[in-house]
Amino acid sequence: PPTLLWFRRDLRLSYQAALVAAVGEGPVVPVYVLDDETPKHRRMGAASRWWLHHSLTRLDAALREKGSRLILRRGRADAVLAELAAETGARRVHAIRHYEPWWRNAERAVAKRIELVCHDGNYLAPPGSVTTGGGTPYKIFTPFWRALRERMPPAVPVAAPDAIPGPAQWPQSDALADWNLLPTRPNWASGFDDWTPGEGGARERVAAFVDHASRYDEQRNLPSIEGSSRLSPHLHFGEVSPATVWHCVADAGGSVETFLGELGWRDYAQNVILQFPDYAARNARDRFDALPWRSSPSELKAWQQGRTGYPIVDAGMRQLWATGWMHNRVRMIAASFLIKHLLIDWREGERWFWDTLVDADYGSNAVNWQWTSGTGIDSNLFVRIMAPLSQSEKFDAAGYIRRWVPELAGLSDTAIHDPDAAGCRPRGYPAKIIGHREARERALAAVRSIG
Ligand code: FAD
Repeated sequence: PPTLLWFRRDLRLSYQAALVAAVGEGPVVPVYVLDDETPKHRRMGAASRWWLHHSLTRLDAALREKGSRLILRRGRADAVLAELAAETGARRVHAIRHYEPWWRNAERAVAKRIELVCHDGNYLAPPGSVTTGGGTPYKIFTPFWRALRERMPPAVPVAAPDAIPGPAQWPQSDALADWNLLPTRPNWASGFDDWTPGEGGARERVAAFVDHASRYDEQRNLPSIEGSSRLSPHLHFGEVSPATVWHCVADAGGSVETFLGELGWRDYAQNVILQFPDYAARNARDRFDALPWRSSPSELKAWQQGRTGYPIVDAGMRQLWATGWMHNRVRMIAASFLIKHLLIDWREGERWFWDTLVDADYGSNAVNWQWTSGTGIDSNLFVRIMAPLSQSEKFDAAGYIRRWVPELAGLSDTAIHDPDAAGCRPRGYPAKIIGHREARERALAAVRSIG
């Protein structure tokens, strides 16, 4: 009988341990289950669904080149896999292990109905395996990274099999178009076209990044330059394994430690959600539960739409909407602005990012939001309030602002960071939603009020 190969966020054929194991056992039925029931309100956001559509298209094409194909089914993963097993006679499922709380539940539910063999490979080290000498998991990034770094480099992963044998008779598959993963409003995602979802696109990004990886340290904080790898959606969807990225970048030579440390943050985030499954829903430091957050739908909307009057924030939020991605430095500035300048609960921002980022990742998103808000187990202090205008100058964001806030394109390199102060705010661009000093004092008073 065939074995089932259950794809989730591991949409690749190279260095895919579950695929290698399945092929070793004979005929394979690769399946992707669109499961919106198990994650409930954590179902994939709109930008992720766009990505998924294209990534599944590419995965099916790559499977067909190897004599196989991708079966698409919709519903609760355990029910769908059990049904498919009954149809095909399969008695075992191979999969890459996932750490989102709903996937862990789904794995338990599947294992009750059919033998499930989970494999590693989506992280540098299996989450939960990097522990202190006493065997407890790390809470703080730096010691976590030190311990993980010592175990590196990761093993060189195994390449894709040349051929993937299929069953004598293929089961039925849904048509991808019927899943309606693409936006129904025309042109909503037209700015996403710069991305090439899928394993081939990921490989191209890695190759392009390796050429400038040695300049990562000086350029990664400059939003006007493409200094980072832009691998985040490819890594999130598992189109490339972090071990592959590690080896390609480390082999390129130069000082790549900072970059490798960022991959370490990605692993760290999974370790955090393994310890705190509801990290996106609750302050890790519960004294912040008493913080007097403001409720202002109109200000939340101004932030979402990039109309706060702070050019760097607006540029970031518009880049996010247009392309499904935002530069990391600007993510920090925009997130800090929502939390501290507008005093709006970080969970509102987390939800917006969840829906609009093509790299929306339960662990990474929650960890970074709680880091920025000062509510996390390892985080910046709440009282460290980022000054968006000086950040914008310091990181030379003029070119970035011109690109994403065209109303300001005519302003000089100095005036563009703060058109109000320079007395040259064009009509059509909003005045600052709140002054920096006033916002800072209000945030400090709020945090003082909780003692
Ligand atoms: P590079 O700088 O080239 O880094 C390489 C890889 O390392 C990234 O692709 C990513 O997988 C990982 N990485 C880098 N920085 C971080 C980090 N701080 N935390 C975890 N992993 C990291 N990243 C996500 O992948 N998904 C998210 O949902 C997400 N939400 C965020 C929310 C906020 C408020 C902030 C401040 C950051 C968030 N990040 C998230 C982290 C970071 O901004 C992105 O990973 C990064 O901008 C992706 O661009 P890149 O691939 O060019 O990164």
